[in-house]
Amino acid sequence: MGLTAYAVCKNYGETRALYDVDLAVDKGEFFTLLGPSGCGKTTLLRIIAGLEMADNGRIIINGKDYTKVPANKRPVNTVFQSYAMFPHLTVLENVCFGLISRKIRKSEAIDKARKTLDLVQLSDFEDRKPHQLSGGQRQRVALARALANEPEILLLDEPMSALDAKLRVQVQIELRQIQQRLEKTFIMVTHDQQEALTVSDRMAVMGVGQVAQFGSVREVYDNPRNRFVADFLQTQNFISVERIGPCVVSTPYGDWELKEQIPWEEGTVTVRPEKLRISSDLSECDFKAHVNTVIYRGCYQQFILSNGLLMETETVLPVKEGDELMVHVPKDAVIILHEETFQRMDVRTVR
Ligand code: ATP
Repeated sequence: MGLTAYAVCKNYGETRALYDVDLAVDKGEFFTLLGPSGCGKTTLLRIIAGLEMADNGRIIINGKDYTKVPANKRPVNTVFQSYAMFPHLTVLENVCFGLISRKIRKSEAIDKARKTLDLVQLSDFEDRKPHQLSGGQRQRVALARALANEPEILLLDEPMSALDAKLRVQVQIELRQIQQRLEKTFIMVTHDQQEALTVSDRMAVMGVGQVAQFGSVREVYDNPRNRFVADFLQTQNFISVERIGPCVVSTPYGDWELKEQIPWEEGTVTVRPEKLRISSDLSECDFKAHVNTVIYRGCYQQFILSNGLLMETETVLPVKEGDELMVHVPKDAVIILHEETFQRMDVRTVR
């Protein structure tokens, strides 16, 4: 149960927005569609909502085929980027509006709206008008409005894009807590990888019209399969290597032993800057390099090394430009990119 999308395709004239996309979202999970601008995530969300029809493929919700069912008959509700509210109505009236227009009795609508406002911790604000609320509070009213309809699945299209950076982080945590309290299925679209990692159980990383990788946030972050996903999750230090043993590669920095068998003769591995370790023990040293630049980042520091690699450490370590470091590359720090690219074809143009 939950949501399954099978082989969804969508073209806009010559532009192929989605090509053969499969997706499986479990009931009660927070699932995120993450990807760069234009990759097709909003189109997929709109197809799930019924606001857009797929050219091919099927949308199954809780075991029932909704592919051809109009938006207002689907058990989903959407929170849009611009959560436009009626400025002359109070918070309570804004939340009631959709319920009353669905012919729910006024007293019942007020009851439901109050319960939902309580859930998003806005009970004390029900008499305020939208302009008397902060951005984060407005966002929670939008959420309450969508949740008041008791949808099986809540769809969120970049719901935090109107908030400033600090508020965003706070609202992300609130959103996650509300979802966990409700145990409802949330599907969110975002291009912000930090946001996806903060709120989601699982995610699909999308690149032009296709899903590039799909899994729990930890699986995908720790083991990006290809360069596109690794790049999008801000992995650094891409290194071209050759296999010289089942688990050993020759790199420009020496031979490294890896944690698993290497699936190709030549390919790319990557190691996150924070996984490289300064070593005081020569027997543990995988390479030596000078520190060309120290970048102070407040809660951590970065070093650009003379061999071009980037590393990160806590700021307490007294490292300065010009120092020579012995660097240890732990076996499990090296990520093997299984595929150079994920695309099955040039999907952008319909031919
Ligand atoms: P963003 O993060 O910028 O919102 P997105 O990943 O949500 O991007 P979509 O809005 O789904 O991407 O668009 C996918 C592709 O389809 C893009 O190339 C876009 O230009 C195109 N597209 C989307 N809607 C239409 C439309 N109504 N008519 C023509 N092309 C469209």
